[in-house]
Amino acid sequence: MPPRPLLITHCRQLVTLAGSRPEGSGPRRGRQLRELGIIRDGAVLISEGRIETVGPTRRVERHPLARQAEKISAREFVVLPGFVDSHTHLVFPSSRADEYEQRIAGATYEQIARRGGGILSTVKKLRRAPSQELLRQGRNWLAEFAAHGTTTLEAKSGYGLDLKSEIKILEVLHRLNREGPLEIVPTFLGAHVVPREYKKRSQAYVELLVRRMIPTIASRGLAEFCDVFCDHGAFTPAQARLILTAARVCGLEPRLHAEQLARTGGAHLAAQLHAVSVDHLERVKRDDIRRLARSSTICTLLPGPVFHLGKAAYAPARALIDAGAAVALATDFNPGTSPTVSMPMILSLACTQMRMTPAEAITAATFNGAHALRRADRVGSLEPGKQADLCAFELCDYREIPYYFGVNLCRWTLKRGQAIYDATGRFQR
Ligand SMILES: [Zn+2]
Repeated sequence: MPPRPLLITHCRQLVTLAGSRPEGSGPRRGRQLRELGIIRDGAVLISEGRIETVGPTRRVERHPLARQAEKISAREFVVLPGFVDSHTHLVFPSSRADEYEQRIAGATYEQIARRGGGILSTVKKLRRAPSQELLRQGRNWLAEFAAHGTTTLEAKSGYGLDLKSEIKILEVLHRLNREGPLEIVPTFLGAHVVPREYKKRSQAYVELLVRRMIPTIASRGLAEFCDVFCDHGAFTPAQARLILTAARVCGLEPRLHAEQLARTGGAHLAAQLHAVSVDHLERVKRDDIRRLARSSTICTLLPGPVFHLGKAAYAPARALIDAGAAVALATDFNPGTSPTVSMPMILSLACTQMRMTPAEAITAATFNGAHALRRADRVGSLEPGKQADLCAFELCDYREIPYYFGVNLCRWTLKRGQAIYDATGRFQR
């Protein structure tokens, strides 16, 4: 028997993200980012994991399915779509807390790399790590994501850098996705950095990616997207173009890490390739902003690494939004530069450090994040027919989500109508 319908009633604020006017199917830009579609004393009726209807409690309670539904009051909660975290490096073997301490003491990225740290130190450990251990850690982190309101996340490979180890990571991601409860979107990031065995022979590694790794990953259906770290010390725009063009031929849609450490032209390339997203963008110039604003590429901003590395230069969110670019926000969860699963913390940083309004930040972390993963038809807003992915914060007003920083006020999270986190004990079904 299918589970009974579920009726969430009396939400103090129900943040639907439903558009106030008929619009195209694209991401939100400019002033649209501020349209949260808030319903006071709102209700959501859920049937078979999907949203049946949304509206004021009085009206939704009269729906024919509401009579047989299990009712749960959300009187003390702000309820919104589950966060869509469109940029994470979920699977890694261990933290890099030692580097954290070295950096605080003043060591540079290059010095840390010379001492054996950096991405390649994680690669070395990952190649030796058994899948079971990676799975165990992945499960633990996913529970934390759920506890902070995230219901869908993208996860990249990129700490293997040889075919066997990259496949190991992607298979772990597939297993975690099958187990649930969160939905994981896998991205192949074989072009994260040049592995040690190809030192000073980066072009040979690019050849390996193009001729062997990408076709194998794609033919096994292990990834949906292909990402390249196009930056100083990683891959050039010309190499990124080769890799992403080959990936697209194999059915993997392109995304890029670009303009984080230096301005290399990655943003320009992303717009030219109609990449699904281009992420970081701390170093973009006015010309890049103009190009991105005119493109279909989502600009995914990642304030987490800027904060964690103790830097001052955040991506120019205001200029991007005001120019009309489609902006998303994500955690960039990874052991080197952004060890956080907390989307609420990312919203706090987006507001105070990048001057996004709370409404813009919420839209960027839900609706536009869903677009960045090509899942906007299913997740990212609370509208009839979409998946019942919701999170609830014990607050009076949505602006308090970024306002209270460093504290987790998420009280429950639903994925396809099922509680995947519940600090209230109300969802014992
Ligand atoms: Zn990243």
